[in-house]
Amino acid sequence: MMTPNLHYLELQDSYLFFHIAKKTAAYLEAHPDRRLYRLGIGDVTQPLCPAVIEALHAAVDDQAAQATFHGYMPECGAPFLREAIAAHYAGRGVTLDADEVFVSSGASDELGDLLDLFGPGKTVLIPEPAYPAYVDANVMAGNKIVHLTTGRQSGFLPSPPWEKQADVVYLCSPNNPTGAVLSRAQLQQWVHYANETGAVILFDAAYEAFIAEDGVPHSIFEIEGARTCAIEVCSLSKTAGFTGTRCGYTVIPHELKRGGAQLHSMWVRNRTTKTNGISYILQRGAAAVFTPEGQRQIHETLAVYKQNAAVLMAALDAAGLWYTGGRNAPYLWVACPDGLDSWAFFDRLLHEIQVVGTPGAGFGACGEGYLRFTTFGDPADTAEAARRIETLLRH
Ligand code: PLP
Repeated sequence: MMTPNLHYLELQDSYLFFHIAKKTAAYLEAHPDRRLYRLGIGDVTQPLCPAVIEALHAAVDDQAAQATFHGYMPECGAPFLREAIAAHYAGRGVTLDADEVFVSSGASDELGDLLDLFGPGKTVLIPEPAYPAYVDANVMAGNKIVHLTTGRQSGFLPSPPWEKQADVVYLCSPNNPTGAVLSRAQLQQWVHYANETGAVILFDAAYEAFIAEDGVPHSIFEIEGARTCAIEVCSLSKTAGFTGTRCGYTVIPHELKRGGAQLHSMWVRNRTTKTNGISYILQRGAAAVFTPEGQRQIHETLAVYKQNAAVLMAALDAAGLWYTGGRNAPYLWVACPDGLDSWAFFDRLLHEIQVVGTPGAGFGACGEGYLRFTTFGDPADTAEAARRIETLLRH
C-alpha cells in the first residue's frame, strides 16, 4: 500500500482566517443592520495601474497575430523582464546579471518550491511572529523547524542566534505581520551569521516597495557578503497590485554554493524541469511596472495605502497604544490594551466598534497579546475605523 507524505498530518488547521470569518459571519447574522470595517485583509484593493493595463492589452493583441505570437516562454523568465528587473536593482546600486533573476508566478509559490534545492531533513530557522506559509511549507517538507521568538523589547526584530545551527533561515523585511524593518546593520549581522555557519538566507522582500525611510535596505543584496549566502524572493502582488494577476521574481546569485554545488544552476535545472514559464501576457504587464511611467503610477497607488497607515498611526498614537510598523510597511502590529489577549481584543473591536483586525496569536506563540491591522482597505473605511478605534480606546 502506498504511503503518502504523512507530514501533512502534522499541519495545524488554518484556524486563523477560518475562525475570523466564522466570528464576523456570526456577528453580522446577529446584527444585520451593522457594517464591518475590515482591517484584517492582506489583499490589495486598488486596481492595476494604467501602464500595466495598456501593456497587458497590447500583449493580448500580440497573441492574435502570427508575426507577434508567442508560444512557450523561457522557463526562467523572458529576457525583457529579467533585464528590466536587473536594471531596477542597478538603480539602487545593486549589480545583478539578468540571468540571476528568475521570473515566478508569485512569492508564495517560490517560498515553497525553493525547498527543493535543500533536500529533505533540513533544519530551518523561522523568526516569529511569521507569515504562516513558512512554517506550513516546512512541515510538509518534513523539515525540523526552530522557532526564534521576538518581542516588544527588540521591536520584534530578530538577531542571529549564534548558539543555534540551521541550514536555512527565513527573513522577512518589511515584515508580515509586524511591519518591522531590519536596518542595514541588523541585516549585516544576519549575512555574517549565514556566511560563518553555512546557512542560506531566504529573504522575503514582498513589501520592499513600502519602505519610506532612507537607508533601510530594500534588498539583501545591498549588504556586503550577501551574494554568497542569500536568495531573495520578491513579488509584484503588493508592489503593483498583482495579487490576482500573479507575477514575482527570485534572485539567486551565481556565487551561492553549498556542498560544492551552485544553487543558481540547480534552480535553472529545477525550473526547466518543473515549469514551462510564466505567460507572455503577464510578463509584458509585469515589465510595464519597471518603466518610469509604471514606477510613477505604482507609487501613486502605494501612496493611498501609506495615507491609510498615517491615519491609523495617528489614531493609535492618540489612543496611547504601543505598535510597530506602518512607517515602512502596510501592517501595524498593535499591543492589546488592558491586558487583553489577541482574541479578546479582536472580539472587543468587533462587538463594540465593528472593526476587524487579525489576532497576533495566529502568527506564532509570541504574537499573543497583539493584533495586526492592514492598510490595504478602502480609505474612507480605514478613516472611519481609525476614528472608532481612537474614540473607544482614548483614555
Ligand atoms: N510573503 C509574504 C510575507 C506575504 O505576506 C505574502 C502575501 O501576503 C507573500 C509572500 C505571497 O505573495 P504572493 O502573492 O506573491 O504569492
